[in-house]
Amino acid sequence: MLSEEIKDFLLEESVNRFLRYVQVWTTSDELSQSNPSTENQFELGKILAAELKELNLDNVIHDDYGYVYADLPASSGLENVRRIGLIAHIDTSPAVSGKNAKPVIHKNYNGGTIEFASNKDIKLTVEDSPILKDYIGLDIITSEGDTLLGADDKAGIAEIVTACATWQKFSELIHGPITICFTPDEEVGKGTLNIDKQRLPEICYTMDGSKMGELEFECFDAWKATITFTGLSVHPGYAKNLLINATHVASRFLSEIPEYESPEHTEEREGFYFVSRLEGTVEGANTILIIRDYIEDNNKKRMEFLQKLKDLYELRYPGLKIDLQFEHQYRNMLRFIENDKYVVDLAEKAIEMAGLEVKFHSIRGGTDGSRLSEMGIPTPNIFSGGLLFHSRKEHIPTLALQKASEVLLHLAQLWTSA
Ligand SMILES: [Zn+2]
Repeated sequence: MLSEEIKDFLLEESVNRFLRYVQVWTTSDELSQSNPSTENQFELGKILAAELKELNLDNVIHDDYGYVYADLPASSGLENVRRIGLIAHIDTSPAVSGKNAKPVIHKNYNGGTIEFASNKDIKLTVEDSPILKDYIGLDIITSEGDTLLGADDKAGIAEIVTACATWQKFSELIHGPITICFTPDEEVGKGTLNIDKQRLPEICYTMDGSKMGELEFECFDAWKATITFTGLSVHPGYAKNLLINATHVASRFLSEIPEYESPEHTEEREGFYFVSRLEGTVEGANTILIIRDYIEDNNKKRMEFLQKLKDLYELRYPGLKIDLQFEHQYRNMLRFIENDKYVVDLAEKAIEMAGLEVKFHSIRGGTDGSRLSEMGIPTPNIFSGGLLFHSRKEHIPTLALQKASEVLLHLAQLWTSA
């Protein structure tokens, strides 16, 4: 059990850190070829490296790719306990601007509508975020509505640094050796691209989940399809039986994809196709789709469907060329974690010890942990508390910051006797 003094410290420390971190602009860029994808991510990395040094962590590194690593020495006598890693990501999604984010605390939420100072067109309601009805009486943090908030994943960062500050202040909270890693570019699928695997322990946790109490160790099996259509341009007045309009053909092709298998029509364990880009001229068109499912065979069927469509369209439009490329982006981490179930079991116990109901959840996406698990480092995902990620309506109760920090304290202690 944690004392009230420790809980108060966790709340104040995590909220203050969170409010500071979200004001640093760290939007990543999916079109950039550099690593990290945006220079501004260095700014928060620099702040975090300095703070971890101040908290007496060892081997603090902020590398050229934007990763921050640090080692927390074990409580005395526990140096030989198994080392664990705690991971969160520095960047925020390019889907919504994160520049000049201004956090606002809505005190003592009354269950009604939350308005945004800098955007009168949107409101946050219980319909948007049903869990809010459980958060009546809590303090809720949002942005001013002109940017996202950045709880994804600055909440995770604030919780990890808060835990470090708490271990330093209250030496009765025992723990083994812990490695901290903050990654850039998670939101653009490159969070582990340049990660130094040697720097990480054999077991890690990401703090990158959503609702209080959530624990995730299953994610999508993820593919990307790049399709290029090559047609033939002819003056439209003289085009009969000659013209192959690549853009028009591409739009017909995409309309064959079942609408019920789109993100806006699927939930829970259902998979989907998602067209993320389509551009074209008469002569050429290209499109990018992502394909997602928990079951790899279901995705294989989707890819076979696209392959058959390609063959059919090349028959239907003689002269048309369709190039279809698939790339495996990440795999369902469940198969890699199943063998190390105790990694999940201890996280479950830690969440219970924080007084929360554990909510097992399958991620409808991926995390840095998806790749790490595939690389042989089982990495389940623990809630960070934020809701409606990648949105101007993103929000987080301050209590979630405290509770997630509590979970880390319990988790580290449980590992000392594992
Ligand atoms: Zn995230």
